[in-house]
Amino acid sequence: MAGIDIEGLATVYPNGVRAVDGLDLTVADGEFFALLGPSGCGKTTLLRTIAGLENASEGSVRIDGADVTRLEPGKRGVAMVFQDYALFPHMSVSENITYPLKVRRVAAATRSSVAERTAGELSLQGLLERRPGQLSGGQQQRVALARAIASEGKVLLLDEPLSNLDARLRLEARTFLKKLQRDLGITTVFVTHDQAEALALADRIAVMQSGQLRQLGSPREVFARPVNTFVANFIGSTPMNLLDGAVVASDSGAVSVAGGSLPASTGSVPTGAEVTVGVRPEYLTLSVASAGDVAGPAIRGEVVVAENLGTSSLVSVDCAGTLIGVTVPEEDEPEPGTPVVLTAPEQRVLLYDKES
Ligand code: ADP
Ligand code: MG
Repeated sequence: MAGIDIEGLATVYPNGVRAVDGLDLTVADGEFFALLGPSGCGKTTLLRTIAGLENASEGSVRIDGADVTRLEPGKRGVAMVFQDYALFPHMSVSENITYPLKVRRVAAATRSSVAERTAGELSLQGLLERRPGQLSGGQQQRVALARAIASEGKVLLLDEPLSNLDARLRLEARTFLKKLQRDLGITTVFVTHDQAEALALADRIAVMQSGQLRQLGSPREVFARPVNTFVANFIGSTPMNLLDGAVVASDSGAVSVAGGSLPASTGSVPTGAEVTVGVRPEYLTLSVASAGDVAGPAIRGEVVVAENLGTSSLVSVDCAGTLIGVTVPEEDEPEPGTPVVLTAPEQRVLLYDKES
């Protein structure tokens, strides 16, 4: 039973940089929690502050209900995996894995059985006598994970653990990590700048910018309803369309955009108000405009180009001079020059303040 409660946390470096800038966050017991944000937004600093490797300047960190804000790292019950793994090159895999136990003076016989068991859990059987330099990147990454797990922390902190692996290994390691976390049920905070990784792995995602939390939610929520254009831009493998628009009439339920219109829940936004209209390529429907009109709000345009994404295609449509991206099944990919009509369901059309 080990959740993490963070309240009003700030971490200020001696040079005055507020790398973590007033953060409230609760990670539930057993949760796989992702911290997502661009490089320099404070992810590593937050993780290191939870671990006790940086001092909190303001606020508190509680682990498993106990205030650990002023505790030294070794007494917090956390295990951290660093981005560069930080393995000891002169020690064997077995010695690396059990190093934290050796520090705690656990007997050699116990250490070697822990090494055997953990190596089994992390598919490192047969490699226990090797040095880190004799392992592949993926194996080194698993040794770093094994060392963290063998230390029997209550909380696992992972700083971009997959970022040094090549694309294929990364996907394998991602699946492996997800299964391992499920099996162990250990509370895990996973730092990444890769939105696809966060969406794939996490129970919940916190999106950070400039040391602050911008959005907290399930992968589904953060993907479908980003709270502002920063989050909207950051999440999704194809970028969200962010278009200049205006409210047609406050009770019309529509916004004018790119020479046409889309349905939107305009609520109390006044008539004529300028907004940024956000709609994901995946949520737009493209129909080939033959004859007749589409009922309800729609945008007309002409296909410019289509990119193959594997089983789907990202089609760029020129709508009165604005390019709009739409994903369609690969077999429905229209030819360049085809006149088309774009529509979207109201709940998929998001309105943002112009300046957000
Ligand atoms: P991320 O992990 O999201 O890339 P970091 O936590 O590493 O971000 O850095 C957050 C901010 O703090 C950046 O502006 C970075 O330059 C600054 N920073 C990181 N480490 C230090 C340090 N030891 N001293 C001063 N500033 C630092
Ligand atoms: Mg970092």
